[in-house]
Amino acid sequence: MSDNRKEMLDFCLKCSICHTQCPMVAKNPSYPGPKHLGPEAERLRLTGKNPSRDEQNKYLSYCLNCKRCDEACPHGVKPSVYNVKNKTSINNAGQESLRDWILAHNDWWGRIAGKMPGVSNFFLKNPFIKTGMSLLGIAPQRSFPAYKSKKLKIARDTKDKKAVYFRGCYARSNEPDIAQSVIKLLEYAGYQVEIAPLGCCGTPVISNGLMTEAKKIAEKNIQTLCQYVEKGYKIVSSCPSCTLTLKEEYDEFFDIPGSKKVSQSVWDIFELLLHDNVEFPGSNKKFSRVIYHVPCHLKAQGIGTPAANLIRKYVVNSLKVMDKYCCGISGTFGFKKEKYDLSMKIGNDLFEEIKKEPYSLVLTDCGTCKLQIEQGTGLHVIHPVVILAETIEK
Ligand code: SF4
Ligand code: SF4
Repeated sequence: MSDNRKEMLDFCLKCSICHTQCPMVAKNPSYPGPKHLGPEAERLRLTGKNPSRDEQNKYLSYCLNCKRCDEACPHGVKPSVYNVKNKTSINNAGQESLRDWILAHNDWWGRIAGKMPGVSNFFLKNPFIKTGMSLLGIAPQRSFPAYKSKKLKIARDTKDKKAVYFRGCYARSNEPDIAQSVIKLLEYAGYQVEIAPLGCCGTPVISNGLMTEAKKIAEKNIQTLCQYVEKGYKIVSSCPSCTLTLKEEYDEFFDIPGSKKVSQSVWDIFELLLHDNVEFPGSNKKFSRVIYHVPCHLKAQGIGTPAANLIRKYVVNSLKVMDKYCCGISGTFGFKKEKYDLSMKIGNDLFEEIKKEPYSLVLTDCGTCKLQIEQGTGLHVIHPVVILAETIEK
């Protein structure tokens, strides 16, 4: 823990504002909440005298790392950071720990499955494979997103403005149309685009408390991205969790040279398009009654809702922006058998809101929020880059 973090503890005035904003507290009354589990428990940990340590550790795996407590704190304390850091102290039983390890390595599975997506998708639907997953502790109600591969088209002309696109696991292995849309938008905005030769940002590994491995991923990503930054590239991401991890988490958890340089060069795709004042054709708005779910990790970046601003201006006639609810899946959390019901319970308010009206489109920027909303509502969910890119002529 940095000295800075120790100082931050003293800023916690126990006002409980964070507690009122925690989606886990709202749906699971036995959860101690951000104030107790974060700064209060950390004070005791630092003294080495924490009689209820084991009891508290049990609840750490219930923290969604949604960061709503951090945003709510009027004193700049970040309870989620203590929770994530202390997850490393949870001693899971063997099977649970193997299951968490499997879920945390979606990047590896994506690389393997992406080589033969048809075969992989066939096996993923196989009842025997599903039973095996269930025995390992993966919720049988969940379906993993289908794998898809696509050769991306990138223009090879040289331009003054340069962007390196950090795709993340979902846009690379499951929905390459998102990646193609981002490339199209960046090229339209006048950027020469490169794809970062990197895999996972490390979010699932961090969420599961595998911090030694997360540090190695962070080191590799920072080292590679630093080389681009030094050549004048902006780093662009279309996944809010990847963006937040590159912008804040590496710096928060690890002391790696270059992390500041990287974090200061990272942009959410819509944040960059707005910053550059890019104008889109969009004269023919074709959608009415569209709803947009703002992922927690986008909210946590404190950049507002740049996707909503552009979509409202160029693509839709009426847009409802939902930033009040956590969808409840929290990456790998909702895939865990013992957490599945709670995950759906947390997402239920959002599902009900979406089902209230006959929306013609449901949008969100995050791959796992999309899975959760689709499962909870039965509706198809689209990344906003896809519909904005469609406004550009080929
Ligand atoms: S962490 Fe912040 S919001 Fe939570 S109790 Fe402490 S001061 Fe209040
Ligand atoms: S990160 Fe989210 S789930 Fe965890 S304590 Fe904070 S508000 Fe609650």
